[in-house]
Amino acid sequence: MNVNLLNFTPEPEKTIVLAAKLCYSDSNIGELENKVKGLSYDKFLGKILNMGHLSVLEHASFTFGIEGISRATSHQLVRHRLASYSQQSQRYVKFGKEFEYVMPETIASNADAKKDFVKTIKSIQSAYKKLVDIGIPAEDARYVLPNAAATKIIVTMNARELLHFFHLRCCERAQWEIRDMAARMLKLARQKSPIIFSKAGPGCVSKGRCTEGEMTCGRPDEIREKFRKL
Ligand SMILES: Cc1cc2nc3c(=O)[nH]c(=O)nc-3n(C[C@H](O)[C@H](O)[C@H](O)COP(=O)(O)OP(=O)(O)OC[C@H]3O[C@@H](n4cnc5c(N)ncnc54)[C@H](O)[C@@H]3O)c2cc1C
Repeated sequence: MNVNLLNFTPEPEKTIVLAAKLCYSDSNIGELENKVKGLSYDKFLGKILNMGHLSVLEHASFTFGIEGISRATSHQLVRHRLASYSQQSQRYVKFGKEFEYVMPETIASNADAKKDFVKTIKSIQSAYKKLVDIGIPAEDARYVLPNAAATKIIVTMNARELLHFFHLRCCERAQWEIRDMAARMLKLARQKSPIIFSKAGPGCVSKGRCTEGEMTCGRPDEIREKFRKL
């Protein structure tokens, strides 16, 4: 899996502070922009986050380029509706001799399971190729492709949606692949916006307590440490 931050709102925290201050100020926007320049944003942003005035976070967006995730995971990702997506098409992009795929560790570490998995993938690859070779359009040949098939996707989310996404998908309840991807996205976003994302992560990190009830992993201290060190 490869996750890169392709682009982001310049000075995301300044933009959010400016938007929030505007709500409570009689200054015009130019004056306000000068006033917030060079300020330390920690205290003010902390207050905004605690108050739940989260709409101002929507002014900062982050665009990620993600490669080598499975179609199973991209399907989970695109369930998040407050985001923009562009995904490599299986209709317009014909795979060559082989398509890339993701093998879960539970399968990779079990010799029998791995053998069966690889055999099945090879058989699918050969069926796909045969269909394409006899003139079946890629958009129809793809019906034989598995959830394991790797994909590429560009995702843009604003900071408010990212916090929500990290809450759900950095949690141990989420599947390992999307969890890994979400943690990489969080690490990149935090480098550009350390205050907003300082406490981002699952409930045990962002809210200080597990929000998963009976589904808790029961390891909040370990998870908090993981996200502290991210
Ligand atoms: C551990 C886990 C297990 C899951 N298992 C399943 C499963 O078995 N089956 C399944 O189908 N899905 C499953 N999902 C997906 C889940 O149901 C959501 O579709 C997905 O997490 C997107 O979350 P969301 O709807 O909160 O957020 P987003 O789509 O990211 O939206 C963010 C927020 O905006 C608001 N919002 C967005 N759209 C609307 C709307 N139309 N109306 C009102 N408010 C809106 C909501 O407050 C929402 O929380 C699972 C998710 C997780 C994390």
